[in-house]
Amino acid sequence: MLNIGCHLSASKGYLHMAKEAVGIDANTFAFFTRNPRGGKAKDIDEKDVKDFLEFISEHNFAKLVAHAPYTLNACSDKPETREFALNTMRDDLMRMEYTPNQYYNFHPGSHVGQGAETGIELIIKQLNEVLTPDMTTTVLLETMAGKGSEIGRSFDELRAIIDGVTLNEKLGVCLDTCHVYDGGYDIVNDLDGVLDEFDRVIGLDRLKAMHMNDSKNPFESHKDRHEKIGEGTIGFETMKNIINHPKLQNIPIILETPNELDGYANEIKMLRNAYKK
Ligand code: FE
Ligand code: FE
Ligand code: ZN
Repeated sequence: MLNIGCHLSASKGYLHMAKEAVGIDANTFAFFTRNPRGGKAKDIDEKDVKDFLEFISEHNFAKLVAHAPYTLNACSDKPETREFALNTMRDDLMRMEYTPNQYYNFHPGSHVGQGAETGIELIIKQLNEVLTPDMTTTVLLETMAGKGSEIGRSFDELRAIIDGVTLNEKLGVCLDTCHVYDGGYDIVNDLDGVLDEFDRVIGLDRLKAMHMNDSKNPFESHKDRHEKIGEGTIGFETMKNIINHPKLQNIPIILETPNELDGYANEIKMLRNAYKK
C-alpha cells in the first residue's frame, strides 16, 4: 500500500486538511502544529477534531506526520531558547493527544558551536522531560542535511539520541530523502546500502515515516534545498525505487516539495502510477 500525501496548511483546521488530502488522492498529510516560526498555537476546536477523526477513519488514512516549528532548538546555547523548545514540544504533544496515535516529527536541533556531544545531551534531556508513558503519539527525529551545526546528519547521532532517552519506545525516525542525500548517504547509487546502514545503526523498525523531496544540490552538499520530484539531483528513478522497495512498504510518505496543491496532486499521481503493487 502506498501511503502518500504532502504538507498542508493547518489554517482552516483538521477537517479541511483531510478533505484537501482526499481531493488530491492523498491518504496522509503533514502540517505545522503552529506557525513554523513558533509562537502560540491555535486553540483546539473540539468539533473540528471530532469531525476530522470520523472523516479519516472513513477514508482509510495512514498515520499523519505533524511537524514541529523550525525554531524549536532543544540544543541551543541560550537557556531561553531551550525553554521555548521544551514548552512548545510539551504543549504540542498535549495537543496531539486530541488526535491520538499519530506522528510528531521534529528537527533534533543545532548545537551552535557547543559540539555534537553537548547537543545530543541537551536533546536527550528535553525528550526525557516531555515524553510520558501514557502518550499515544510517536515522536520522530528527522534525518538532517548537516547544514551549519545541525544534529542528525548521521544515523549514529540519531542512534545516540535514542539510546539516551528513557522512554525510547515513543521515538522513531523520519527519513527525508533530500536531507540524507545532502548529508552524504547515496540513495541514488546505493539505496540498499543506505538502508542496510540504517538498519545496522538504528534499526529499520524505527523508520516510521519519510519526507520525499528531490534536491537542488549535488550529493553531500549539506545545503537542504528541496526540489520538485524528478527535477533535482536525486531524480525520479530513485523515488520509484524507494516507493517500491520491499523494506519501505506502508510507511507514510510526505512530499515537502516547492509546490502548490495542484503541483502536489500531480506528484502524487506520478508516484501512484509508478507504484507496482
Ligand atoms: Fe523537517
Ligand atoms: Fe523534511
Ligand atoms: Zn529540508
